[in-house]
Order: sequence, then C-alpha cells, then structure tokens
Amino acid sequence: MNRVSVFLMVLVLCTNSFFSKGQNSEYKINTIVIDAGHGGKDPGAIGKHSYEKNIVLSIALKTGNYIKENFPDIKVVYTRDTDVFIPLQERPEIANRCKADLFISIHANSLKNNTRTYGTETFILGLHKSEDNLAVAMKENSVMLYEDDYSNKYEGFNPKDPASYIIFNLMHSLHIDNSTSMAQHTEYQFKSRVGRQSRGVKAAELWVLRKASMPSVLIEVGFISNPKEEKFLLSEKGQDYMASGIFRAFRSYKEEIERHSSRTLVIKKTEVADTNSDEVCFCIQVKSSSKRIPLNSKVFEGLGTIEEHLINGVYKYSVGHSTNLKTVINKKREIKRRVSDCFIVAYYKGNPISIKEAKNIQKS
Ligand SMILES: [Zn+2]
Repeated sequence: MNRVSVFLMVLVLCTNSFFSKGQNSEYKINTIVIDAGHGGKDPGAIGKHSYEKNIVLSIALKTGNYIKENFPDIKVVYTRDTDVFIPLQERPEIANRCKADLFISIHANSLKNNTRTYGTETFILGLHKSEDNLAVAMKENSVMLYEDDYSNKYEGFNPKDPASYIIFNLMHSLHIDNSTSMAQHTEYQFKSRVGRQSRGVKAAELWVLRKASMPSVLIEVGFISNPKEEKFLLSEKGQDYMASGIFRAFRSYKEEIERHSSRTLVIKKTEVADTNSDEVCFCIQVKSSSKRIPLNSKVFEGLGTIEEHLINGVYKYSVGHSTNLKTVINKKREIKRRVSDCFIVAYYKGNPISIKEAKNIQKS
C-alpha cells in the first residue's frame, strides 16, 4: 500500500469508529433565557424621552412571545418581566440554573454629547478590539455599582478601571462559535429585515456574558442618544420590528445548530490519542468555521497534524493534542506565532469541556 492509501484507511477507520461511538442523539434547543438589561433603581441609558430599561423590557417580552407562539415546546425564561432591579450576576445565574441553551441579553446604547451615532451592534464575550467596545463593556458592567458590596461579589473587579479588565485575558469562552453565530444572525436580521444600520458583531469583556455557561450574546438595539433612533425604539412598531428581528435570528440559529446532531466527528491526518477517549485531552484550536475547511488548506500550512471536530454544527480545527496541559501550553507559544488568536481547548469523551473541568477530572 502506498502512503496515500494508508492515510485514507486511517481516516476511514477513525471516521467510522467515531461515528459508531455516537453520542447522545440529537441536539435540541429546549430553554432560552431572555434578559432585559437594567430595571428598577437602575434605568440604564437615559435618552431625552426614554429609559433604556423600559425599551429593552418591552423588546424582551415581545421576543419571548414570538418564540412561544412559533415554538411552543421551547421554554422561555425571563430574568425579569417587570420593572425590577436584578443584580448583574444573578442574570446569567438564572440561565445556568435552568440549564438554558441560549442566553440573550438586550440593551440599548447611548453616547454622551453625541446625538449623531446610531445603529445596532451585537456583542459576544471576548477581548475588546477597539476603545468603543471597551466603553460599551465599561458602561454595561458598571451596573454592578448599584449593588452593595459589589467589590466582594465581583472578585474585586472595578468596572470603571481598564486595568481591572486583565482578568478577562485568561478566559476562554467554550461557546464562542455558537455565540458568534447567534450574533451574526441577529445583525443580519436587523440590517436586512428591519432596515437598521448594523454596526456589526463585536467582542467585549461583558460580565453578564462571562458567567453564562452557554452560548450568549448581548444585543444593543440602537442609540437612544440619537433622536431618530430613540423615536423608533420608543414606538410600538419599532419594538415589534426589533423583537421579530431577534426572533428570526433565533430561528435561523436554531435551524443551523439542530441540523447537525451533537456527535463529534474527528478526522485526523495521523494516529494520535483521540479526543473521544475516556481520558481528558487538551489541544490548541486554530480555526473554526460553519463551513468545512479541507485539511490540506493553506490556512493550516505549517501547523502540523490538524484535527477536525464537528460540534453543534461548527467545524473546529485544532493541533498539538496531548493529555498533558503543560505540553499544550508550551506548544501554544509556538503556534501563536502563526495563529495569534489560537487558544487551548479541552475534550472529554468527545465533548468540549472547560479547562477547569478538565483539570478537575484529571485530579479525580
Ligand atoms: Zn445596558
């Protein structure tokens, strides 16, 4: 047998064995948590004629109604459905407690001394790439200042001090791909169906997303500091349109991720320890995509053995597979020179888990 056919055989064997190990059948969205930002003593942003807390509550409830009408089997949970104050940390915890499959936090933007800027933006958890994004994170995180003893509750984090944001540096969101997908659907709907100006999908260090252990997005529905946008967002029609945009985004997201079952497909160029094994293993994720990328693609050049994982409809590509975290950390330094935004992921029995969970399993 020549080398190519050996390679193909390994590939087929791997593919078969991973499929036959088949994990829990279909992945379905059962529960969604909709979080209307602010509330009660915290008005959020203040426009000339509006409070952020009222606009976002109305859009949140309308969004939930659309989902309930169209998907009666899905449980819709609101963090608040009246004008009450909910501590920041309690919001993702509600989602964690009811094991939600998706967390959507709805907010409205505003700028001081700027009535011109308008448009929607949807945030995922990540490191900010511009000062504007950091400003949004600081503003939305600052609601923790309404709480007594916030410093203790929030690990000494000071939402107004840029230096505090270093704690987000070490974080890796397990759900970055699904969150990005929901964010992209949302901005697409706002732009194409609701006719809004989309400012795009952005990343920032948002506390409310940091604590959510499921795919999560924070939607800024527009600037109430812009008179025209404020008028739109205050109107019944405007709120209906925004809610239907979020609903449509949710529907597309749901279709996209449910199209694939939760089984993990791993194809490897060579035989190495496999991520479906009973042992915890670590690797460095270098790329993810909703479309499959050939393993011989230029984007992987010089990275060594590539593994492909299909997880909830997203293809994830990783290198440097090992059961030893230290080895992987060392390898990551080298990979980072080629792929600056690579990060370490852990797998257990074919499923992605957090590094913390992985360490705990290894200890036990
Ligand atoms: Zn807000």
